Amino acid sequence: MPTLRFYAIKETFNRLPMPVTEPERRSEIFGKNVFNEAAMRQYLTKDSFKSVMDAIENSSKIERHIADHISTGMKEWAIAKGATHYTHWFQPLTGATAEKHDAFFETMENGHAIEKFGGGQLVQQEPDASSFPHGGIRNTFEARGYTAWDPTSPAFIYGTTLCIPTVFVSYTGEALDYKTPLLRALQSVDNAATAIAKYFDKNVTKVNATLGWEQEYFLVDSALAASRPDISLAGRTLLGHSSAKGQQLDDHYFGSIPARVLNFMRHLETECMLLGIPVKTRHNEVAPNQFELAPIFEETNLAVDHNSLLMDLMHKIANKHNFKVLFHEKPFANVNGSGKHNNWSLATNTGVNLLGPGSTPMKNLQFLTFFINTLKAVNEHEELIRASIASAGNDHRLGANEAPPAIISAFIGSQLTEVLDELEKVTSGKLSPQEKTDLKLNVVGKIPEILLDNTDRNRTSPFAFTGNKFEFRAVGSTANCASPMTVLNAIVAKQLIDFKVEVDALIKEKKMKKDDAIFNVLREYIKDSKRIRFEGDGYGEAWEKEAKKRGLSNHKTTPQALKAKVSKKTISLFEELGIMSRKELEARYEIELEDYTMRIQIEGRILGDIARNHVIPTAIRYQNILIENVQGLKNIYGTDFKKFSGEQLRLIEQISEHIAKINKGITDMIDERKKANKIEDVEKKAFAYCDDVRPYFEIIRYHCDKLELLVDDEIWPLTKYRELLFTK
Ligand code: ADP
Ligand code: MG
Repeated sequence: MPTLRFYAIKETFNRLPMPVTEPERRSEIFGKNVFNEAAMRQYLTKDSFKSVMDAIENSSKIERHIADHISTGMKEWAIAKGATHYTHWFQPLTGATAEKHDAFFETMENGHAIEKFGGGQLVQQEPDASSFPHGGIRNTFEARGYTAWDPTSPAFIYGTTLCIPTVFVSYTGEALDYKTPLLRALQSVDNAATAIAKYFDKNVTKVNATLGWEQEYFLVDSALAASRPDISLAGRTLLGHSSAKGQQLDDHYFGSIPARVLNFMRHLETECMLLGIPVKTRHNEVAPNQFELAPIFEETNLAVDHNSLLMDLMHKIANKHNFKVLFHEKPFANVNGSGKHNNWSLATNTGVNLLGPGSTPMKNLQFLTFFINTLKAVNEHEELIRASIASAGNDHRLGANEAPPAIISAFIGSQLTEVLDELEKVTSGKLSPQEKTDLKLNVVGKIPEILLDNTDRNRTSPFAFTGNKFEFRAVGSTANCASPMTVLNAIVAKQLIDFKVEVDALIKEKKMKKDDAIFNVLREYIKDSKRIRFEGDGYGEAWEKEAKKRGLSNHKTTPQALKAKVSKKTISLFEELGIMSRKELEARYEIELEDYTMRIQIEGRILGDIARNHVIPTAIRYQNILIENVQGLKNIYGTDFKKFSGEQLRLIEQISEHIAKINKGITDMIDERKKANKIEDVEKKAFAYCDDVRPYFEIIRYHCDKLELLVDDEIWPLTKYRELLFTK
């Protein structure tokens, strides 16, 4: 009987690119399934339209009677587009998006039926909060939670369902999702950044944080993926010997996109266009069968929703093309993992990118203000930044080949390093007119509008300035961007608030001019945040040593890294800004620790199962073949048989040794799991899984992979790396 592996491989031989239909022009279908400004103008009354726009632009409240009008317009629009159901669409802390569909359809007393969707249904709903992670909040507070409409992210139709982006909070107001704290952080950074931008331009009334994510992923043929229990259940391979050829020739990155994949991408991008996700770039990534997709950046809340929606969409469309999409940060050992670079900046409502160098010294002083404050914020909160990207999957990636290390540092390039070095020398106190002129001419004025410095050269920096934005590269490919974006925007908000206090004090108490005061504060900030700047190669022992000297954290595992989420410093930061309370932070901390524990537990079980039930029986079968062979040789040659069976005997012994080691590894791992499972304390349990259970993965895998090299390929049950990575 052929193994599942060969059945799956055979399946792939007949695959053809799935036909796709694309519009002639993408612009024609862009946003067609989104209740955007154009749709709202058509379907809403003037008052309703104004009210929604006001909510988007000025965060104003929408009156209840207006909500009734809006819901009616929304329903009419959705039904005209073939929608039959509606759902509140939200992002609970499970890492997936959640939806519960209800039909518009309602019956009336007289046996008739109508399509109905009231303001109440638009504005608020009650999903059952108990089935989503809540980290203890539910035990001490009201058990139920509700979803509430977020008008800043437009409703959209997916399939035949009208999806309404919402926040998800408990009845007592605690955030149970990713979006709630993100919205609060965005409000904070808007307030703080607007106040600073006003130093330079009084017309600025709003600052939006912008986000452009780059999503990396792997595609594996669906039959091949289904043949591997580890890929099916954990989204990554837990064992498998490296392929003779991996990524060393770099031929995938520069190669053309394979036909089946290209059709998947075209299909996906068409769907993205309909949903208003402005995808723009697609290409092969470094590892075989690894790819990347990036949109044009957007306002952060919308960009976060679009990334969540995209990931969901990718699963569905990949399925139609007989692919399984792997978002895991490290699906395969010894080839590159996947990240999700978060390109971040701040933009004013007057159209200025605050992290873009300008054409005049004044504009550049504004740029430097935001640039240096960001560096200072990252320096202050490097541990929290590290915590914001911690996950079981990302632990495999941070510090590995081509990926940023677990140490957070910022790369700014040589041009800006020179500028900061000059600014550091600025006189303390009031600046002489001569010094100011000199600064304007030779330092601030010298920053070119386009930084030609090839900042992308440094691929290992976790946080790099790339010309007109920061690129937070350490984010994992499975992450919800809201997590790092909440932290980044919060720390920058806090930093800008502090900056304003200091500058205003110098202006008021020391009678300094505004620019003198700004130069003075920035000078100190440059000195204060020096330790976070690192232009070198981001991995290796030398940097680890250096970072330690600088007092930078280097948390290599999730349980270690997560602690910063509930440190005194973090709690006071989030409470001061009104983004999250201690209770919310502690709840989240618990949820993330539990998530970590469960993932390691699941992986441990899968690995134990594969090793015991797939690998060992196969090895024994092969060993029996060898034994039979040796016995046959003995029959023919008698005592001389050893002359002809040396290799077979050696193999028989080696197989036994590996089997014994695997068995011991599994038994010991299970013992550690049993011990860990008895621990009540969530934090201690996560550490036990991390430090006591997880190390066995390597040992078990090592011996399984050795067996893969020894056992007859014909009977090996697990689809091999070369098949997973090189089937196109
Ligand atoms: P690369 O990093 O590959 O050189 P780009 O610099 O063009 O490519 O942009 C990468 C990503 O950064 C894109 O998703 C882009 O939309 C985003 N991006 C560009 N400018 C900004 C900005 N001001 N704010 C946020 N994201 C941005
Ligand atoms: Mg990039």
